Amino acid sequence: MSNKKVDVLLVGAGVMSATLGKLLSQLDPSLKMMMVERLGKVGHESSHGLNNAGTGHAGYCELNYTPERADGSVSIDRALKINASFEVSLQFWSYLVEQGLLPTPEKFINPVHHQSFVHGAADVAFLRKRYAALREHHLFEEMEYSEDPAVLREWMPLVMAQRDSNTPVAATRVKHGTDVDFGFLTRKLVKSLLKLPQFELQLGHTITGLRQHGDGRWHVRIRDNHTDKVRTVEAGFVFLGAGGGALPLLQKSGIPEAQGYGGFPVSGQWLICHNPKVVRQHTSKVYGKAPVGAPPMSVPHLDARILGGESVLLFGPFASITTRFLKEGSLMDLFSSLTAGNLKPMLAVARDNLDLTRYLVNEALKSHTDRVDALRDFYAEAKNEDWELASAGQRVQIIKRCADKGGRLEFGTEIVTSRDGTLASLLGASPGASTSVAAMLEVIERCFAERIASAEWQYKIRDLVPSYGESLDENVALLHEVRRRTLATLHLEREEN
Ligand SMILES: Cc1cc2nc3c(=O)[nH]c(=O)nc-3n(C[C@H](O)[C@H](O)[C@H](O)COP(=O)(O)OP(=O)(O)OC[C@H]3O[C@@H](n4cnc5c(N)ncnc54)[C@H](O)[C@@H]3O)c2cc1C
Repeated sequence: MSNKKVDVLLVGAGVMSATLGKLLSQLDPSLKMMMVERLGKVGHESSHGLNNAGTGHAGYCELNYTPERADGSVSIDRALKINASFEVSLQFWSYLVEQGLLPTPEKFINPVHHQSFVHGAADVAFLRKRYAALREHHLFEEMEYSEDPAVLREWMPLVMAQRDSNTPVAATRVKHGTDVDFGFLTRKLVKSLLKLPQFELQLGHTITGLRQHGDGRWHVRIRDNHTDKVRTVEAGFVFLGAGGGALPLLQKSGIPEAQGYGGFPVSGQWLICHNPKVVRQHTSKVYGKAPVGAPPMSVPHLDARILGGESVLLFGPFASITTRFLKEGSLMDLFSSLTAGNLKPMLAVARDNLDLTRYLVNEALKSHTDRVDALRDFYAEAKNEDWELASAGQRVQIIKRCADKGGRLEFGTEIVTSRDGTLASLLGASPGASTSVAAMLEVIERCFAERIASAEWQYKIRDLVPSYGESLDENVALLHEVRRRTLATLHLEREEN
């Protein structure tokens, strides 16, 4: 029996594959696409609403995106890049809403003030410098700053309640920050793809291997999880959008570009509060500073979330040690990912990051009271009984070979593509879903280089993302125009603003 043939095979039904599928289908509706997902549902791993914080990462509140340099100045480069990337996502989602391809925006994105909060003289001095550096830039021109406890009590009443008046405090606020239900968004993107005759979704099927043939096409093995039957699908282009499962598949592809990569898995947990009396008192996302020695992904934050129409509060994440690459993965994932090519970098990272390992073990051993105690640093009146533990998704941080130390642990995301552009993968975790559109446009630029250069795709892409090819970081007028449209289309201007 001959193999089924597709133009594009999307591995995994998370926000990345769904976004790439939607972008490609808008650019060329005739592309034959198949999406394969090992679970029985779409968007159920890291993209699920409760498995991530749902912060539309724009650099407004995340203090780890603006590190302090050795000379005491604050570097804002990363925050600018992430902010501009998030604007790209907002533009594409606006287009889809306008075209009726996504539902009313309140179902997946809501305006939630983004605030950073610090206490103690040193952290206040840092936040003041951070604000001064960011406020200069048009991307952050609407950021507000205050050291006045009375103002902060208005901005974040729960956080300011019963706070020691002798300790200096400071906060910044951006009113058009967002909370995003990436799980809902993913499901709706896939739902709209399913309306296309050229698109097929295989749930409950696992990609077990892939090999490139002499003609450049990929022969991909797919196992039906119910029957264990394996078949092969032939694809011209494969996207390994398997989240934590991407690294093992990238290794199986055998492309030289995969050499030397390893993964450092970190699991997460939240404290979640459903009590409406508490929930209604906190309507923003408040990000603090990570404790000394803690990894960047454990920056504590108290978040107002809207999930499936319900308002809840999340606090965390509490990072923990794991050997699984996926929430519904195997305890053997980490060990199976060891290869001759990545053993040295993996061992180097294990040697150089003992403090991180110790931190993760300590976090894992925390009791409920210990966790609520951490929350009390934010919200002094928190009661144990109002909060329960919920597990978040897994992150697989990138381990990369490097000449000086043998291996390095990275906290961002990276797109790996084969030289011939027939295979792409996304490794790493953060900022992730928020910047999915910019990341998938990069995949298209690297793997569909000729087509994206064509007049036809250049024209269409500007329909989807009007700022395409321009720098929002540099073009003030364009940023204002783009932001006016996205804030209005996605209903991101809160009435009390
Ligand atoms: C605790 C936490 C907090 C976060 N907070 C934020 C945030 O506030 N804002 C933000 O933007 N991002 C956040 N992120 C990151 C964000 O969740 C991810 O960037 C994003 O969801 C990744 O999407 P994905 O499609 O790559 O992966 P996933 O959503 O994990 O999808 C991958 C899919 O591939 C499937 N799969 C795996 N292996 C196979 C296989 N062999 N065959 C078939 N299918 C397979 C999986 O079952 C899964 O459904 C957070 C992540 C975590 C863990």
